[in-house]
Amino acid sequence: MINPANRVKSIQLSQIRKMFEVCSENAINLGIGEPDFDTPPHIREAVVEALNEGFTHYTLNKGILELREAISTKLNTENNLNIDPESIIVTVGASEALYMCAQALINKGDDVLIPDPGFLAYDAVIKISEGNTIPVPLKIENDFRMTVEDVENHLTSKTKAIILNSPSNPTGSLMKRKDIKEISKLAEDQDIFIISDEIYEKITYGKKHYSPGEFTDNVMVINGFSKTYAMTGFRVAYVAAREDITEELLKIHQYNTACASSISQKAALAAIEGPQKCVKDMVGEFKRRRNLMVRRLNEMGWEFKLPEGAFYTFPHVQDSSKFVAEALKNDVVTVSGEAFGNVGKEHVRMSYAASYSKIESAMERLEKIDFN
Ligand code: PMP
Repeated sequence: MINPANRVKSIQLSQIRKMFEVCSENAINLGIGEPDFDTPPHIREAVVEALNEGFTHYTLNKGILELREAISTKLNTENNLNIDPESIIVTVGASEALYMCAQALINKGDDVLIPDPGFLAYDAVIKISEGNTIPVPLKIENDFRMTVEDVENHLTSKTKAIILNSPSNPTGSLMKRKDIKEISKLAEDQDIFIISDEIYEKITYGKKHYSPGEFTDNVMVINGFSKTYAMTGFRVAYVAAREDITEELLKIHQYNTACASSISQKAALAAIEGPQKCVKDMVGEFKRRRNLMVRRLNEMGWEFKLPEGAFYTFPHVQDSSKFVAEALKNDVVTVSGEAFGNVGKEHVRMSYAASYSKIESAMERLEKIDFN
């Protein structure tokens, strides 16, 4: 009998993936966190070209220079960050980036503040690095936005890092520039690092995303291509950080993956350097779907906050486990808010990355259910 390491015994496999395994073929999946659009043609063509040119070998550990240069330019022009290409590491998705940041930064027993509700991987990657997660409960009255007071109230003498995620999975909330600036200042004053997950940056509906990297160097900026360009299967993202931590990050990346896939890096280069109309079109369609879901939730009298980014609604329900089970019986897959932390217990996450007509049908099915 194998006795696995305690650090893995204490964490669970994603409950979200499990849900998909049990649902029927007729089920409409509002559980999934990935765009249903095809990857834009010019990005796919770049892969074919790379293959035909035989670009099928290891790349530099940090990633191909052209891509890191393009990312550096993007961060400068769009986010007001000044990060040298040498301080950028191309990763196997934002998932690897999160793991790498946690491994490079967290010592056993360090405390890390994470948003509650927040993306499942935050708790897991910190625990795998033997740190403690301190959930910061986010209030529905404040549209689930984290403020500097929320952070201050949860600081401990062992706080090493804070994870920020704006726009947020699962709440769809978008942090205010003022809050980001104040938390960044606090991070500097207290010598704390911010791990900023900006994977949904481009998926916003009117307001702009701001990076804490604009206000402090105590930050690891994580961004990627999965959501913005409908490229989840390519597994490509990046971390941009201070020069003095890049080498430590690289040690984790190098011994974990060696480098991101060569052809995926070419795809990412085509995405970042190519026309951005595809992003505008996809975000426009997400907005149309969001408006549909929001209108239907309003008609059904549910309590929720208008999502300002990402592609999720996070309505209030009495008992999320019961809700999810009832919805599933009626062939609608949703995710219990509990998967994202304690605060989520009375919420359910519904994604509008599914097609417009599927959302229409799913809402009709939900409307008929008596959840009491
Ligand atoms: N961060 C958040 C907030 C996410 O929602 C996801 C994907 N669901 C990721 C990171 C991971 O993205 P990737 O596909 O780049 O690994």
